[in-house]
Amino acid sequence: MEHAKDVANGAQTPESSGQHTSVNKPQDPMDSTKFREAVHAAVDEITNYYDTLPSRRVLSSVEPGYLRSLLPSGPPEDPEPWHEIQKDIESKIMPGLTHWQSPNFMAFFPASSTYPGILGELYSAAFTAPAFNWLCSPAITELETVVLDWLAKLLSLPDCYLSQGEGGGVIQGSASEAVVTVMVAARERYLREKSEGLEGEAREDRIAHLRGKLVALGSEQAHSSTHKAANIAGTRYRSVPVHLEDDFALTGAGLRKTIEDCKARGQEPFYLTVSLGTTSTCAVDHFEEIAQVAKDYPFIWIHVDAAYAGAALVCEEFQHHTDHFSAFDSFDMNMHKWLLTNFDASCLYVKRRRDLTDALSITPSYLRNTFSDSGLVTDYRDWQIPLGRRFRAMKIWFVLRTYGISGLKAHIRHHIQLGELFHSLIKSRSDLFAVLTPPAFALTVITIVPRRQRRQRSSIPADR
Ligand code: PLP
Repeated sequence: MEHAKDVANGAQTPESSGQHTSVNKPQDPMDSTKFREAVHAAVDEITNYYDTLPSRRVLSSVEPGYLRSLLPSGPPEDPEPWHEIQKDIESKIMPGLTHWQSPNFMAFFPASSTYPGILGELYSAAFTAPAFNWLCSPAITELETVVLDWLAKLLSLPDCYLSQGEGGGVIQGSASEAVVTVMVAARERYLREKSEGLEGEAREDRIAHLRGKLVALGSEQAHSSTHKAANIAGTRYRSVPVHLEDDFALTGAGLRKTIEDCKARGQEPFYLTVSLGTTSTCAVDHFEEIAQVAKDYPFIWIHVDAAYAGAALVCEEFQHHTDHFSAFDSFDMNMHKWLLTNFDASCLYVKRRRDLTDALSITPSYLRNTFSDSGLVTDYRDWQIPLGRRFRAMKIWFVLRTYGISGLKAHIRHHIQLGELFHSLIKSRSDLFAVLTPPAFALTVITIVPRRQRRQRSSIPADR
């Protein structure tokens, strides 16, 4: 590799063989001077974008396929200067953007972007080091371990999720990726446990038999990523019914009934997603009851999906939700949703990191090194599906330090207050709106009263 680099840089190789070999490096169209100018111009444009966001229309009005007609049919033959490229941002890209960062954006959940988060992305791009092994860039691995331990404590997760014990955290690209990752670990752990004591062909036969019977569970309100993960992991998926009278939460009784029903059909439930904040109504499953059921089915992996609402755990008033998390196997929350960090920063914690590495560690000779072999370092490639990985800890570190714990709490509490204000405004117009579920983690679910019912509604008492 060194040799190849030297040659590419125009250096000459020893000429002992009598052959003269040198290769000229093509001129770089953006050197550090041009980059400095370009980055200043880009930062000016980005800060101006944020300053003018409130006045921009949130949804674009372009028609499908608008961009193809604005762009040439292929890339330019010769280099273009940055000022030419940059011009196209405002004229061609901006009209087709939906402005998620606008204060007038009201759809889905928040997708945080902050200046410290952007700075983290900038440094991550600058260092571009796919740190799959510790040795590939020790700082990248070690910063990730440290900031995820900070975050675990901040979210009041039980100590079993900290890296000092048997657990630990790893940054994934998304909550869906986290579910696939833990479901694969759950599947492998289940098959291992259920074939214990067998060897050779008998073991293989037992595992092959069990594979066809595996079923992953989630409540009817669990995010669709669990069903998708089951498709990817090659298992059945079954949803557990939930009801309005339980605020759409998964209950222990409902879970037990579904597990027993699966067993009666000869199926093997091996995995369950429970939710802290479902997508549709921000329901919180009944963790204490579920932890009780888990005692009777110790081989079922229980994953807490707190993709959005997990951010609220930075505030003491929400931390009681983690009381029973030590009975579960993994937890995931997206800092990129509600905790001021740019996409992507999905923070996954496992109680036993061995469960991940047993399922995902494959070590060909080219990935071996003395540090990994010593067992004293973390190689995050064994905690995730891809090999290469981005330096995502940097932006989390910047956000945690720039806002501080007090700033993060203030941010969440401000949104909770806005949610309550919204709820009171909605209730004051019961002629127009009905509340389906009251504020939960700043989300109130409402329906619009159909026009023909509006006249009758004035006689109906105000609901939730
Ligand atoms: N889980 C819940 C509860 C969600 O609300 C969402 C997205 O809104 C997801 C998972 C999926 O998140 P991601 O886009 O990070 O995969």
